[in-house]
Parts: sequence; C-alpha cells; structure tokens
Amino acid sequence: MSFVWTIAEQHDGKLRDVSFELLARGRKLADKLGTKLASVLIGDKVGEQAMEELIRRGADEVYSIQDPRLANFVCESYARVLTRVIKTYQPSIILAAATSSGRTLMPYLAIKVTAGLTADCTELDIEEGTGNLLQTRPAIGGNIMATIKTPDHRPQMATVRPKSSRPLPADASRSGKIIAVPVTDDMIDGRATVVGYRKDATDFVNVEEADIVVAGGKGLKKGDNFTMIRTLADSFGGVVGASREAVDRGWIGYPHQIGLSGKTISPKLYIGVGISGSIQHLAGIKTSEIIVSVNSDPDASLHKVADFGIVGDAFQVVPEIQRRMDRRNGGAK
Ligand SMILES: Cc1cc2nc3c(=O)[nH]c(=O)nc-3n(C[C@H](O)[C@H](O)[C@H](O)COP(=O)(O)OP(=O)(O)OC[C@H]3O[C@@H](n4cnc5c(N)ncnc54)[C@H](O)[C@@H]3O)c2cc1C
Repeated sequence: MSFVWTIAEQHDGKLRDVSFELLARGRKLADKLGTKLASVLIGDKVGEQAMEELIRRGADEVYSIQDPRLANFVCESYARVLTRVIKTYQPSIILAAATSSGRTLMPYLAIKVTAGLTADCTELDIEEGTGNLLQTRPAIGGNIMATIKTPDHRPQMATVRPKSSRPLPADASRSGKIIAVPVTDDMIDGRATVVGYRKDATDFVNVEEADIVVAGGKGLKKGDNFTMIRTLADSFGGVVGASREAVDRGWIGYPHQIGLSGKTISPKLYIGVGISGSIQHLAGIKTSEIIVSVNSDPDASLHKVADFGIVGDAFQVVPEIQRRMDRRNGGAK
C-alpha cells in the first residue's frame, strides 16, 4: 500500500507537466519515509501510456480512475471519488498542484476527509523522529517562511506551486503497478457537469507552462490597453500575464495574475510592462530565464532584477517592439 500520493492533472488525456513536478516532490518524501509513492489519475479513457509515464517519472503505483463522467474536472465528483479512495487505501500524505483545479479541489476534499491542508507550499520535508510532513510556505506577505505540520490528522494534505520543482527525468527501467479503481454511480455528484468551454480562451490561459509571458501592470492606465500587450504576446507566441493591480482593477482575469497570490512562472522570457516589481510580484517571476522590464521610472524595482531594463513610456516602447516583431514575423508595417 502506498502512503504518499500525488494527484496527477490531465487535459484531454494528456498529462500536465505539473503531474511530474509533484512526483519529484513525492519521491523525495516517500524515500525518506521508506514507503511507496502513488499517483492518482482521474479522467476518461486516459491511455496506459500516460500511466506508464507517471511510473517512469517516479510513481510506484498509479490509481487509474476512469469514467466518461470524469472526463472534465468537476470539483464535487472528483472530491467524491478521492474521498472513496482515501478511505479505502488510507494514504498518509497527499500532494496536489496549486493550479486552479488543485486550489478548488483540495480545500473541498480536506473538509470531506476531515484533514488539514496547507496551500501553496514551496518546500516539503519529513520531520525526523515523527515522520510528520513539514509544509513550508510564505506567510505575512512573503516576509517570513512558515512551516506547518499536521500531527493529529491523516491524510496530511498540501498543494505545491507549479514550476517550484523540476520533474525527475523519465527512467525507462522503472516499473510499477497500475490499479484500476472501478467507478460506481454513488461516486459521481450529478449536480454539476461541464457543458462546454468558452471559446474566448483568455481566462483559461496557462501562464505557468508558457515559454514567453508578456505581462501588464497599473502603468497601462486602463484595461483596453491590454490589447497591445495581447498583440505583442501573440507575436512572440506567448501568453499574457498581469500584476495584481491590473487584476484587481478588472482589466484582466485572475488566471493571468503572477505573483505571491497568483501564479508562479518560469518562462524563457518574461516582459513586464508598467509593472513596478513589488516583492509579491517578483516572487512569481524570479525563476524566469530572461526578464525584461519596460517602465518609465528608472528606479523601478523590476529594472533592478531585469536582464534588460527599458526606461521609457510603455505607449512608445511597446508599439516599437511590436513594429520590429511584425517585421521579423514577415508582416512588415
Ligand atoms: C499579501 C499580498 C499578496 C500580493 N500578491 C500579489 C501578486 O500575486 N501579484 C502582484 O503583482 N502583486 C501582488 N500584490 C500587490 C503588490 O504589493 C503590488 O501592489 C502590485 O504588484 C503592484 O502592481 P503594479 O506593479 O502593476 O502597480 P504599481 O506598483 O502601481 O506600478 C505601476 C508601474 O507602472 C509604471 N508606469 C506608469 N506609467 C507608465 C508608462 N506610461 N509606461 C511605463 N511604465 C509606467 C510606474 O513607474 C510603476 O512602476 C500583493 C500584495 C499583498 C499585500
């Protein structure tokens, strides 16, 4: 029986990278505890290849829970399914990703199984002697790191920020067990079903997995000006990010927010436009490979961490970069 579990994420049957990142975290914990590591994969008709990939990336076991009614993430049904398997197999530790679905599912699940939950952990370890999970996360606006443990309840549950750990390389020599868990009607909560996805994909943007992120902040002055950020991101083949100020003003949706209370990204290229570079914003971008800052204030904090700082008015600098990109992409203007 496995005692450390990770909740794998998939979309249309394809595993998300964060599933492998969680396994890297889980592997370390399971090895310290001398126990097995399992990944739970919920979906519909997810191929065996995906499960084998989970094993190659560190899982000893995969609990495969497949049903057409589980094809899309529905919090209530996923939580019911997990409640059932948790009661049956009694894992000691469950790790999920601090993605939109993980952040929705895990608090709901924690209530169902009377467990605690530490959200957004950056470090996880095992306490010597007790074997308790040590769950570390930033607290008080990122000024301190708090370590939390759950000595009295099981499972110990935590979400982990995507991109805060590297997946283990795929090891073809690894072998493991795939356990098919049958789905019964009482495991499905029929009150909510997915009827379709909005065609306007902006609110479903996956900034965490993007290689290029162009982000806008309060310096853009108004929501309409995100159009130039979006156009620039498109011409780089990237996605749009934002500071919390921009999100709080309703200029763009929360899924775009980068930082302590938003997403952590580690793209190859991050361009911040009209973003001052608060400590909370920097917390989300610090592992970016190249940081470019566009800000009219030469003393802006973002310039200080940037590889390239462009001191200038966003409304002059961005159109200029856009013109050059258009020329490069063959659509000279
Ligand atoms: C607990 C907590 C969690 C938080 N979480 C987050 C988070 O996840 N993400 C986040 O971003 N923030 C977060 N914040 C908020 C954070 O403290 C800042 O308020 C926020 O990041 C500022 O956003 P901004 O840079 O867009 O705005 P500002 O700090 O107001 O900066 C705007 C910048 O635009 C520049 N500017 C103005 N006009 C132009 C122009 N024409 N051209 C170019 N530049 C121009 C200005 O010089 C300025 O530097 C959090 C705060 C707290 C307390």
